[in-house]
Amino acid sequence: MGDAFTIGGVTVSPGQRKTIDLPFVDLSLKTPMTIPVQVIHGRRPGPRLFVNAAIHGDEINGVEIICRLLKLGALKRIRGVLVAVPVVNVFGFVSLSRNLPDRRDLNRSFPGSARGSLAGRLANLFLSEIVANCTHGIDLHTGAIHRDNYPQIRANLDHGETARMALAFGVPLVINSGFREGSLREAADRRDVPVIVYEASEALRFDEFAIRAGVRGVVGVMRELGMLREPSRLRKRKPVEPMLVRSSTWVRAPQSGILRRAVALGKLVKKGGRLGVIADPFGGNEVEVLCPADGIVIGGTNLPLVHEGDALYHIGRFEGTQVAARAMDAFENDPVYEEELAPTLDDEPPIV
Ligand SMILES: [Zn+2]
Repeated sequence: MGDAFTIGGVTVSPGQRKTIDLPFVDLSLKTPMTIPVQVIHGRRPGPRLFVNAAIHGDEINGVEIICRLLKLGALKRIRGVLVAVPVVNVFGFVSLSRNLPDRRDLNRSFPGSARGSLAGRLANLFLSEIVANCTHGIDLHTGAIHRDNYPQIRANLDHGETARMALAFGVPLVINSGFREGSLREAADRRDVPVIVYEASEALRFDEFAIRAGVRGVVGVMRELGMLREPSRLRKRKPVEPMLVRSSTWVRAPQSGILRRAVALGKLVKKGGRLGVIADPFGGNEVEVLCPADGIVIGGTNLPLVHEGDALYHIGRFEGTQVAARAMDAFENDPVYEEELAPTLDDEPPIV
């Protein structure tokens, strides 16, 4: 039996599952605001993993990922502790906004402090109550509003434990990503808690493909860490051989106008290839948007109305085109769940 686990003054003993409302500052109406946390404490000791979403309040795909994760029957037998925080930026979530009411970006406000700005206080609370109690973390994000990301993991691949989690997530795109100052990932790293970021889809939308890949990814990490049992050999999926993206670049609009995209997210592209065309409202004055390097489209705009200089496509560079093509193929044509995960999830909406 592991030790009792305490968050927000509430103790969750081995074998218990509890939902805790972590008090945060009141709304301006003086209505109390709390952060919902669910803790599942296995009977056997093991890693303590937090999974959070909506650090950016409008990035809601991860909320659904956590919701579905928590329905999995397999969690009854976990080793260690799962700490699920579906909505971190509760203020942004209720106002459909990325940032807090003080306009600060929570993911640039870590580590924050108990006497700092609103965002700084939330960062500090998350670090002291959640991160400090955990050994590993998964931070779920989406692209910004009108910006779509192909399902991808961002992580520091030079750190062994982080790289192990990144690969176990099982999406074909793994991006080696430096630490951004003020981010949760950086603050957790300073406390020796490895954190990977899952980026998929866009803000204020549910994307069924991205959600399913996310649930499967978190389960994959939990298995790798020994928190969940490996599936039987017959049911085990062939691991995807991910492509490791070491650098990326944004392609910007060469002129203002209306963009017609010529390639989808996740497609391999060649230097000089056509990514799209920008024209005026009559379809005249067409200018091609050309790809600056060989790579893969890892993100892009969903908004066809563009100004000169707008970021249109995010291109990742990697090595080994054949491996990449195989990995993407396997991922997109895979039965989305192995049978073992299916029973509690069979009322899912179709991928449309
Ligand atoms: Zn985000």
